[in-house]
Amino acid sequence: MYIFDSHAHYDDCSFDEDREKLIEELKNNNVIGVLNCGSSLEGAVSSVDLSETYDFFYAAVGIHPEHADEVNDNTIYKIRELAKSPKVKAIGEIGLDYYWDQNPPKEVQKETFIKQMKLAKELNLPVVIHDRDAHKDTLDIMKMFPEVIGVVHCFSGSVEFARECLSLGYYIGFTGVVTFKNAKKILDVAKVVPDDKILVETDCPYMAPTPFRGERNRSDYIKHIIEKMAEIRNMSEEEIGNQVISNVRKLLKI
Ligand SMILES: [Zn+2]
Repeated sequence: MYIFDSHAHYDDCSFDEDREKLIEELKNNNVIGVLNCGSSLEGAVSSVDLSETYDFFYAAVGIHPEHADEVNDNTIYKIRELAKSPKVKAIGEIGLDYYWDQNPPKEVQKETFIKQMKLAKELNLPVVIHDRDAHKDTLDIMKMFPEVIGVVHCFSGSVEFARECLSLGYYIGFTGVVTFKNAKKILDVAKVVPDDKILVETDCPYMAPTPFRGERNRSDYIKHIIEKMAEIRNMSEEEIGNQVISNVRKLLKI
């Protein structure tokens, strides 16, 4: 089975000691694609670097809501410049995160999110959306840009919210959370999303699936997510594996 990880952070410092060796191992373990998503300007630069170093790496460039207060016109200018690299396939990760109290104020997050949605529209690139405890406001901003599509990564909403995202043309990103023992809401979502809108992702180094829960995550662990998705949806692993690869290629135009 081949694997395309639609959301990873190999620029994270937890990979500093063995990044090169690990990426080589991924290649040998049938990982044929990785979308490395920047969270900060520095992370976006590193994502582009990784995509230029490894042929199976692609980059998303954008500022995560936790850094929303660091964004000014110059930041947007720099993201736009980075997006000129042919390996940049999306703007992300961008969005809203109301979970952490120490995050920038909601209004600041929204403003930064909107600026980057505008950029995605201008550049005709899909977006990688981070939404934590902010479903309604996230959806409102997605609706302001009907021309833009993308993925709602590490999806954490209800079936109803998933349907709203799907109706706007968005894909739904599933992480190792589907393998967790206490998973319930996400399994309901995983049952109803149409085949052609499913993406799988690690969000590594976080979110490692069972049986690696709590450890550092890596793209070859996606096979455990695919196993679970196949079980939930009554499909073979091969079918779902092929389907998610064709989906991510379509979204990212690879
Ligand atoms: Zn992420």
